[in-house]
Amino acid sequence: MSSDDIPSRASRQGGFAGSPGANLPALRGHNTALVLGLLRAAGEEGVSRLELAAHTGLTPQAVSKITARLRVEGLAAEAGRRASTGGKPATVLRLVPGARHAIGLHLDRDELTAVLADLAGRAVAVRRAPLAFEAGAEQVLTTAEREVAELLAQAGGPLVLGAGVACPGPLDHAAGVLHRVTGAPQWDGFPLRDAVAARLGLPVALDKDTNAAALGLARALPAGAGSFGYLHLGTGLGAGLVLDGGLYRGPRTGAGEFGHQIVQLDGPRCGCGRRGCIEALCLAAVAGGDLPAAAEALGVGAANLVELLDIDRVLLGGRTVLDAPEPFLSGVSRALAEQARTRGSAGARAAVSVALAPGRAVADGAAELVLAPLFG
Ligand SMILES: [Zn+2]
Repeated sequence: MSSDDIPSRASRQGGFAGSPGANLPALRGHNTALVLGLLRAAGEEGVSRLELAAHTGLTPQAVSKITARLRVEGLAAEAGRRASTGGKPATVLRLVPGARHAIGLHLDRDELTAVLADLAGRAVAVRRAPLAFEAGAEQVLTTAEREVAELLAQAGGPLVLGAGVACPGPLDHAAGVLHRVTGAPQWDGFPLRDAVAARLGLPVALDKDTNAAALGLARALPAGAGSFGYLHLGTGLGAGLVLDGGLYRGPRTGAGEFGHQIVQLDGPRCGCGRRGCIEALCLAAVAGGDLPAAAEALGVGAANLVELLDIDRVLLGGRTVLDAPEPFLSGVSRALAEQARTRGSAGARAAVSVALAPGRAVADGAAELVLAPLFG
């Protein structure tokens, strides 16, 4: 898996709406995206035009044209010279991370987190505010508008490309519309993406909190880290899936409804209306202070996921896990070890770890919903 593959697949699924923001013509086009992707991956060290040509398959002339445009827009700058084999020293170019920014909004059930990320995906400003997601649209939109205004003021009025919004699912990423969110049925059918775009006057992309987190986490993993499932246990339980280098949403953004797999036929009633869902078991155990029992239920689900998809790793996150990672790490590890044992020699054990970017994986990933399509 290379981190460049992930944005390109994500971008193909589209899902943007709103006014153009600071999305300048220089940022458009497939070849420009390829060049920007290489500049982003090279970081501070930079990359020469010849290397850009070699890695993109473009002619040196085409690369020069694109990089000249990027420099005019302030997106790329010279980063010194480097000896090249045989010829004169090559000029090295690098991305200028502060040239544009993206907003990431995590709408959780009780809290809003807003980040302003630069082109490298680094958060340069962060705000948090209480939120009552279940109270409905007006309150959520007003809070989002106010916090984004504060965020931008704090950062001194940066050029913003757009905003990524991540919230509990189910929802339709392509249409930007919420479905029947557990515990908040009044959101069913609400066009949240367009509503936020109208308030902010910016292009907006909408996705599930778990998908946003998985997209952001995929960038942080080393190349070759393989396919993974990100399990998010907070006020609910869901998953984001990165399979063969791409975020897997499914055609209706229905993939990753991990929490509503039924594991106990006569189990407790779940918020979704059925019985014995993993989410119901986990949340009941957490509410009763029995974290090992919650971890055991989570482990059953993690082992099912590995069994079904043959993924290489499981990343754990969400507020409940981050507050007390140890019982969850050991409970899920035990379940995966058991699962690998049943496979015998065919069963390489999937790795388990707690997701990086503690506490902000979703908001950072929401900004990546805007940034990823630029870096094909
Ligand atoms: Zn359920």
